[in-house]
Amino acid sequence: MQRFLRIGGFVFVAALVSAQQQPAPLSIVGLREGIYWIRGGSGANAGLIVGGDEAILIDAKMTAESAQAMLEEVRKVTASPVRRVILTHSDGDHVNGLPGLPKDVTVIAHANARRDLEEASKDAKLAGLAGWLPRESVADRCSLNAGGLRIELMHLGPAHTDGDLVVFVPSQRVAFVGDLVFIGRDPLIHRHKNGRFSGLLATLRKLLDLDADTYVSGHAEPVGKEDLRKLLATLEATEGKVRGLLAEGKSLEEIKAALGVQEPAAGQRRRPSLVEVIYLELREKK
Ligand SMILES: [Zn+2]
Repeated sequence: MQRFLRIGGFVFVAALVSAQQQPAPLSIVGLREGIYWIRGGSGANAGLIVGGDEAILIDAKMTAESAQAMLEEVRKVTASPVRRVILTHSDGDHVNGLPGLPKDVTVIAHANARRDLEEASKDAKLAGLAGWLPRESVADRCSLNAGGLRIELMHLGPAHTDGDLVVFVPSQRVAFVGDLVFIGRDPLIHRHKNGRFSGLLATLRKLLDLDADTYVSGHAEPVGKEDLRKLLATLEATEGKVRGLLAEGKSLEEIKAALGVQEPAAGQRRRPSLVEVIYLELREKK
């Protein structure tokens, strides 16, 4: 999610954050042996996997300062150096803190997320990212080894973006899923990054097939399979309603009205609602 990013620059970002929500202090929470959830600070939740004498971060917060605060938290739980960071996707609230990480850190991302980062780094405000472009990109699947701990990286198809990566630690049954899971709000499908709602449904089904019991996402508390099942059922129901109304020949405006979609207040950034995204995809398939 990049709610505040690239909408009129950092002044706007700061104003919105201070007026609406001060980010919670950054803290690190142990989930399993060697597996941590990093919450608070500026930007999305991040994660940490400690295997042998290596610490691997998942995502990089939204500012260099927040990334450095994250490293301080990491030092409270392990003396192992951070040598790699895996990006779950390319949104600014997950990656713009990269310049706060050590210069020699290896950045790993999906090839399409790398493409987005390279593009973003052309913006003068984000030029610092150029020094942290992923050296290793993942096409579909790969396995990492951290001191004997196996970590699976999986791209399950276009969903939130077309460069989403799931970071799965089979021995601990934990999956870091970035923004593939939103709880308590509609999922965000970035059509400008080739995200697909149909792909999100497919991805959620694949996440349920994993031998995992904990899913750590960018903007919610960790959840289990039951929450994921409920989320999938809700989204399938919404898709069914849009499909039915479309088959009756209803327009987008009529469908949005029938499903109670609120338009954003004047002055707020307009993002296509989930109903609109589903409608557009169903129309494209026709
Ligand atoms: Zn995102």
